[in-house]
Amino acid sequence: MKLERSIELYTKGKRNLVGSVNSPVRAFKSVGGVPIFIEKAKGSKIYDVDGNEYIDFVLSYGPMILGHRNSKVERAVEKALKKGYTFGASTEAEIKMAKLVCEAFPGMDKVRFVSSGTEAVFSAIRLARAFTGKNKIIKFSGCYHGHSDALLVAAGSGLATLSIPGSAGVPDEAVKNTLIAEYNNIDSVENHLANNNDIAAVIIEPIAGNMGVVQPTSEFIQELRDLTKASGVLLIVDEVMTGFRSKFGGAQELLGIEADITCLGKVVGGGFPVGAYGARNEIMEMVAPLGNMYQAGTLSGNPIAMACGIATLKELKKQNPYDKFEKTAAFLERELLAAAKEYGIDLQVNRFGSMINPFFTKEKVVDFKSAQTSNTEQFKTFFWKMMEHGVFLPPSQFEAWFLGTAMTKRDIYKVRSAIKIAMKAVAEK
Ligand code: PMP
Repeated sequence: MKLERSIELYTKGKRNLVGSVNSPVRAFKSVGGVPIFIEKAKGSKIYDVDGNEYIDFVLSYGPMILGHRNSKVERAVEKALKKGYTFGASTEAEIKMAKLVCEAFPGMDKVRFVSSGTEAVFSAIRLARAFTGKNKIIKFSGCYHGHSDALLVAAGSGLATLSIPGSAGVPDEAVKNTLIAEYNNIDSVENHLANNNDIAAVIIEPIAGNMGVVQPTSEFIQELRDLTKASGVLLIVDEVMTGFRSKFGGAQELLGIEADITCLGKVVGGGFPVGAYGARNEIMEMVAPLGNMYQAGTLSGNPIAMACGIATLKELKKQNPYDKFEKTAAFLERELLAAAKEYGIDLQVNRFGSMINPFFTKEKVVDFKSAQTSNTEQFKTFFWKMMEHGVFLPPSQFEAWFLGTAMTKRDIYKVRSAIKIAMKAVAEK
């Protein structure tokens, strides 16, 4: 596999960029070797600077659900670009986008756009505290909610891979109001609620995508909804990854629950920086300028990003690809398990909608602890063989693979062949 130009850029980049990247996972640290640098992408394919072509299962960690450079989205962005980049005053596009988002999530009367998932979540936490007048929040071990101080505890993903318990630079005071519960374990939530009357909210990834793919049991999620309601605690559902991805109405639509506050990111911007948080009127009316919870942003509701988001959501709604995603994910699951069986490798495949993740472990993966039983060395071998055979996967055992609508049958058959070769390589290692 030719990676000379990527090696050259990686080396050059280290001089002025931290680790030659702008987000840690891009450094491929957990799979070793050199991170690829991208030249361009189109449809289901992404091309690195050495001319290698890959079927893209990273999809920018979720946003590019329609594949790269969808023609309708591109036209909308080009049209918006010609009108100007940012104004510091409102545009009609923001209203159109807000309508689309609020219609998709029944629990949302009003929405506020921001520029990232991190921003959406930390604003939602502030809002929950403002609304309830309470301070503490409960988060689940292995769930990632962006890199704000209070949420950078037991946060899965990059942190899981690097085995860093939290982050340097986060003072104890910043996390002292963050209580940790176990995913799929309602008792762990109940215990906190019983021992504490200062809890503003429980925040959850409705499908945990930052410890691989871990699904809540239907009893757990329903009990969590009932318990929070009964305790006067808000339920914040972080749909940054799952919003418009699990279903148009997010994981909430699939799981049959309604959040008090919903956080969005990734797909909602279609590849431009957009995050959002929304809730029913009585909660959102706390936010400035209506209320006294302050939150603002120079580039919030940026017109180019709104144009991209609107076009992406409209196209997604029209294509309604969710049944197709389900079938493709089921096919990949079968192929992964069959190849693992053929070569005597322990493998669990977790999937939900258009997110799928094979864990190299014997143990059923239901939470962060069981996810961590995975053999990351085997994943490493698997990852590089897949890359060699033209499949770009997230370079971590604990990141979900994302399906996109631009993937063709031919792409998926090619992936099947690559899976067989990669599983054989794992067995032979
Ligand atoms: N919440 C969840 C569930 C996420 O998956 C992510 C990003 N992976 C975030 C929040 C943070 O979003 P961003 O990277 O856009 O700040």
